[in-house]
Amino acid sequence: MNKEEALVVFSGGQDSTTCLFWAKKHFKKVYALSFLYGQKHQNEVELARRIAENAEVEFKVMDVSFIGHLGANSLTDTSIVMDQEKPADGFPNTFVPGRNLFFLSIAAVYAREKGINHIVTGVSQTDFSGYPDCRDIFIKSLNVTLNLAMDEQFVIHTPLMWIDKAETWALADNLGVLDLIRKETLTCYNGIPGDGCGHCPACRLRREGLEKYLASKEYQ
Ligand code: ZN
Repeated sequence: MNKEEALVVFSGGQDSTTCLFWAKKHFKKVYALSFLYGQKHQNEVELARRIAENAEVEFKVMDVSFIGHLGANSLTDTSIVMDQEKPADGFPNTFVPGRNLFFLSIAAVYAREKGINHIVTGVSQTDFSGYPDCRDIFIKSLNVTLNLAMDEQFVIHTPLMWIDKAETWALADNLGVLDLIRKETLTCYNGIPGDGCGHCPACRLRREGLEKYLASKEYQ
């Protein structure tokens, strides 16, 4: 397996775009893999393609829309009103059950085909919603499972696991892509790129992180 190549699970959002450029810094060749999972805003895949092409990264889209039909969630079902806050008992309905399990498993099979053993994902345990498949313990467990499943030595990298949104902006700035990520990525649940709609939970989290980072920069 090639130790100088990495595959990034890539949505074109702030987190995975930061990971794409992190991977470009640490590996000689980087590939990006995006998924169509029945998300309402499929233009995110076209934005992802554009970012990858501009970064000279080989880009691939895989259709896994069956995930959206398996369980009810507000990211794929337009009839469900999106939770604006995390409910006291459990996850917000933006949680897509099994999403990272499927994405990373498919990514590993695809990586194996390409002879790549490094896989990069932008999941973060500090994620506001506490999605179970963003936790470090899940990633470590899946890493072992994937290695056993294919008798390979995959290494799943999670550069954002222990950092918050402000620190993710700081990392982007360090990588020299703060403006690119601010203008070209799509994080907004309402499908508006850049600074987004401004009021959905993803926009609020992104903006608060950016404001916190920019404020901390002024004191340096
Ligand atoms: Zn928004």
